[in-house]
Amino acid sequence: MSRPTIILPKGRRSRPGAPWIFSNEIRRGEKTIAAGAVVNVRGEDGRDFGTGYFNPNSLIAVRLLAEECAAAIDADFFAARLSRALALRATFYDAPYYRLVHAEGDGLPGLVIDRFDDTLSVQITTAGMERQLAALTAALETVVSPATIILRADAPQRALEGLDNYVKTVKGEGRRIRVMENGARYLADLAEGQKTGWYYDQRDNRAFIAGLASGKSVLDGYSYTGGFGVLAAKAGAREVVCLDSSAPALALAEESARANAVTVKPVKVDVFEELARLGAGGEKFDIVLMDPPPFVKSRRDLETGAKAYRKLARLAAEVTAERGFLLVASCSHNIAPDRFAAECAAGLSRTGRKAALIRQAGAGPDHPVHPMLPESAYLKALVYALD
Ligand code: SAH
Repeated sequence: MSRPTIILPKGRRSRPGAPWIFSNEIRRGEKTIAAGAVVNVRGEDGRDFGTGYFNPNSLIAVRLLAEECAAAIDADFFAARLSRALALRATFYDAPYYRLVHAEGDGLPGLVIDRFDDTLSVQITTAGMERQLAALTAALETVVSPATIILRADAPQRALEGLDNYVKTVKGEGRRIRVMENGARYLADLAEGQKTGWYYDQRDNRAFIAGLASGKSVLDGYSYTGGFGVLAAKAGAREVVCLDSSAPALALAEESARANAVTVKPVKVDVFEELARLGAGGEKFDIVLMDPPPFVKSRRDLETGAKAYRKLARLAAEVTAERGFLLVASCSHNIAPDRFAAECAAGLSRTGRKAALIRQAGAGPDHPVHPMLPESAYLKALVYALD
């Protein structure tokens, strides 16, 4: 097979075993190979590092697809990976609603697929995966045979790969879909919604909170389309208030509530402002949930973002009732779990409230993590019991 070979000089690998080869680990001349090209990766000593795809513009020069050189990257390759991913999900879920592919965790770097029954929302974040679109689509036909495929090629990382952003319906039609999760029905809008339209990553945390919610008042901060709030209402919460800055997201939350014969109260606000207002008015909720967008978008933002998490934990604790529960989550890749926990702890201690950490969790098993890329376990959710 005629394909370029990337040579790794000895002793430069900073993360042996990881499916990434960084640009400072390869020989310089290699950087003329086109973005997205499939390459073989060999050590100077002839050692086989595998088959991957290359990008001269990215700090991650190669993302590995297979452990051996000269592996065929074609529809069969994708079909095999997709079948494995599908089999794993089938062991956990009895209905076809889950993240079907979670990038490196499923051996498919640059690719995320969320499945909503016969609709797939496909997110491509790298030039290498973008080049494989035809093979991938063919494999999806064989393995899943979906009615609708929506391509969400609009993630911020794409700019780093030199890719344009677009959203396109590749097959079928219909962007509004139903989601079944934890026994509740929800509505999502795949073209208008954020990310892939629905956040499956919080599924287990939503179930945990719902287990505490019967008879309680709930403040669902950064509710988006009501993932937490609607389930809490269904589990018998006395009152659920959803706070979000997006009117369309809140409208979907209300619709989802109706679909489950419950109600939530949507409030379109900035969460920090609303927490300050509620706090000043002495209002309290039995369960307070804060699941904000990433405050640490890049490593440069670490200190400002960390401070924002601390402030959020403090303001949220101030509106949590006695013997109440507080969940604070972070979906920032760029803050480590222990730092996030330390910031939340600092915020809580400022309130003088006694707090006990009762749950530390991440995403569910449909978000597998490559063992050598622990930072791709981006979701951190902490639940505290407050006195
Ligand atoms: N908890 C949700 C996911 C939250 S995503 C779920 O379970 O599905 C983050 C949400 O924060 C988005 O809906 C976004 O509209 C909202 N948001 C972002 N900045 C905000 C702000 N300053 N005030 C209120 N909401 C905000």
